[in-house]
Amino acid sequence: MTDEFDLIVVGGGIGGSALAVAMARSGAKVLLLEKSMAYEDHVRGEWIAPWGVAETQRLGLYDLLCKAGGRHVKQHITYDETLDPSIAEAAPLPLDAFVPGIPGPLCIGHPHHCQTLFDEAKREGVTALRGVDVREIVPGAAPSVTYSVDGQTHKATARLVIGADGRASAVRAACNITLHQNKPHHMFGGMLVENATGWNADRQAIGTEGNFAFLAFPQGDGRIRVYGSYALDDRRRFAGEDGPRAFLEAFRMHCCPDNKFIADSSPAGPLRSYFNNDSWTDEPFVEGVVLIGDAAGWNDPIIGLGLSITYRDVRIVSDLLKGAAEWNAALFAPYAEERSERLRRLRFVAEIKAIIDAEFDDAARERRRRYFERAASDPMLAAHGMAVMAGPESLPAELFTPEHRAHILEG
Ligand SMILES: Cc1cc2nc3c(=O)[nH]c(=O)nc-3n(C[C@H](O)[C@H](O)[C@H](O)COP(=O)(O)OP(=O)(O)OC[C@H]3O[C@@H](n4cnc5c(N)ncnc54)[C@H](O)[C@@H]3O)c2cc1C
Repeated sequence: MTDEFDLIVVGGGIGGSALAVAMARSGAKVLLLEKSMAYEDHVRGEWIAPWGVAETQRLGLYDLLCKAGGRHVKQHITYDETLDPSIAEAAPLPLDAFVPGIPGPLCIGHPHHCQTLFDEAKREGVTALRGVDVREIVPGAAPSVTYSVDGQTHKATARLVIGADGRASAVRAACNITLHQNKPHHMFGGMLVENATGWNADRQAIGTEGNFAFLAFPQGDGRIRVYGSYALDDRRRFAGEDGPRAFLEAFRMHCCPDNKFIADSSPAGPLRSYFNNDSWTDEPFVEGVVLIGDAAGWNDPIIGLGLSITYRDVRIVSDLLKGAAEWNAALFAPYAEERSERLRRLRFVAEIKAIIDAEFDDAARERRRRYFERAASDPMLAAHGMAVMAGPESLPAELFTPEHRAHILEG
């Protein structure tokens, strides 16, 4: 038996479920195939940048996320071993200043975020299946997906297949779409912690001291999603049974006294570490198939934008689909063009952030000291940070050039 749909979405994470909701609401018959039986904490995005929050609003998903417990963070502080904490804390950055009408970044637990969208897809009439083993994806003018679930094998056809199956995308492989990657720059570990009640729950922070760079995003009720960057040649630093405790101890820093609340907190999930890098595809589509989210290429998590990128993909692709009678490959050329420039700019920003924040020798420390000193009198030096909060399109093209990069890092 072959089942027929308008759209088959492979992967029911953030991107796949959000796209399924958007298309079901416009009347499409959608099949959503998710491999896992339950969403687990893989240490993934729990912080949506203001420009990503604006995309959730445009998609009509913002209220759903807020009702599901999403909460805004109001202030940001950058700490550093070259800065006195009282100076760093004297002027917190207000996070409602970047996108009009958006109170700041939105924090929501990743597994719960996925489940909320998956449940919404079902409520909107999507045929949403869990525990699915996708066996074959055939692109082309009449694309199909063969999968098994509950011991039975099915074949489904559709006008279009969406690959939303993450970094190791089977859909991308089936379409022979090349994934370009740059070299990993540093290790990036993360963990959810609880009982960090002394931490200001309205405040996110980053900072570098010694051979560790931290990021902290409060999730409410004394929970914080914490991340740490460390050197590639130190990759086993937090391995083994004592790894989580050693990881939390790394947060104890002179430059950020409140990090003691993190160091003294308790793990509330697994510690996972990744090789941080960027990846991209030149054309995230072939006839009959389009890739979105991480499947189409991801940005280095050091700037925390994968969710915002994914929501923008969902909004652009769903708008194209809703506005066209024919869903042929040519329809997705503007998406490919916009995404390519978006990812290029974000790659530029992530590389600069990684060099400034996540290199640890004496030369790097001196570069950071000079960077903060120069940025105090030259606001354009740190303007690339606007791309993180307000979106890469919010800045002029000349800020994404080798000359500007050299000015930031070497001036
Ligand atoms: C350490 C780390 C920290 C991060 N922090 C942030 C952050 O703070 N903010 C931010 O915006 N982003 C962050 N990100 C990035 C963000 O998590 C991702 O960009 C985002 O989750 C991508 O969503 P997605 O739906 O494309 O893919 P995924 O979240 O990977 O979802 C893919 C889904 O597809 C399913 N799947 C996979 N293969 C198949 C298959 N063959 N068949 C069916 N289903 C399949 C998976 O089970 C999964 O549910 C971080 C990433 C990392 C690694």
